[in-house]
Amino acid sequence: MSRVYNFCSGPAALPEAVLKKAQAEMLDWHGAGVSVMEMSHRSSEFMSILASAKARLSRLMNISDDYEILFVQGGASTLFAQIPANLANGFDAISYVDTGAWSVKAIAEAKKYAKVNVVASSKEQGYRTVPDFSQLEIDPDSAYLHLCENETIGGLEIFDLPQTSLPIVSDMSSNILSRQIDVSKYGMIYAGAQKNIGPAGVCICIVRKDLLKRSSDVLPTVWNFATLAANDSMINTPPTFAIYLADLVFEWLEEQGGVAAIEKLNIAKAEALYAAIDASSFYSNPIDPKYRSRMNVPFILADNSLDALFIKESEAAGLRTLAGHRSVGGMRASIYNAMPMEGIQALISFMHDFEKRHG
Ligand code: PMP
Repeated sequence: MSRVYNFCSGPAALPEAVLKKAQAEMLDWHGAGVSVMEMSHRSSEFMSILASAKARLSRLMNISDDYEILFVQGGASTLFAQIPANLANGFDAISYVDTGAWSVKAIAEAKKYAKVNVVASSKEQGYRTVPDFSQLEIDPDSAYLHLCENETIGGLEIFDLPQTSLPIVSDMSSNILSRQIDVSKYGMIYAGAQKNIGPAGVCICIVRKDLLKRSSDVLPTVWNFATLAANDSMINTPPTFAIYLADLVFEWLEEQGGVAAIEKLNIAKAEALYAAIDASSFYSNPIDPKYRSRMNVPFILADNSLDALFIKESEAAGLRTLAGHRSVGGMRASIYNAMPMEGIQALISFMHDFEKRHG
């Protein structure tokens, strides 16, 4: 068996140590005689896994008791609707920042629940930059301010939050746990697991407790944040195996030195890759350097007729899934926490070699 460097945007590479641990525990979890997949979600064993995942995430992100951690199903796309359904109840309007494809999708769903004011957008700049937050006109009566902190497709990341009295709701699907943040600045953080946390099938929601009062009883029960919180995310059967894997990834991250340590590594990885792109006229990245994503690095070849060959040769060199999103083309290297520096070095050396032969 040989594992390759996997640059997929999601479901993405998981730490090899985590996969090995899951493999070792697959048939018999801690002497239970069954796999985690085969146990009741109400068993004391699974309850201990859920509690461990919550405790580790709280430690890793320094989450205070003012927040609830929820594990929800349906993907971040479901949350695009579920969030306004819960948090905009009783409000006429919601404010959204628009920085790319995932913002657009979130806005489209939110419009089904309330009037959406797009208070800042970089659409006219082709989503190559983050809009200026210094002059935002935000309706103080709107339910919350939503932003997508890392645009996975465009490769654009917001590093500084806007100033506002509204609760900030942030889609951190592709950058959660990649750098230190101050959770107390947010009303809610949410993230699909399949990039930096674990397998697809579970989303992590970190919700400030006072916002739970907004959820109305008319919501479908499994959509209701307050009911989810009151039932420890176990209104019905949760995605048990995905939560177990998330706990193993959190454990791995603690062993790496936590978020501060992985952030340092992520900065070094991203800087090395962007430097290699910038040093060549064969490759380019269009994003305003201040807002380049540390997690998703899109780049194009000066001659796009070489795209297919680049993909073919990179796959043969053990560098998997470098094709850009189907809506933008070009290449994209997703370099989440589980991507080691060696993977970045292998990619850079392949890029040099490809340029030498075809440039
Ligand atoms: N938000 C962002 C930033 C994403 O990258 C994605 C998925 N790539 C989503 C939301 C949607 O996630 P899901 O496919 O789990 O619904």
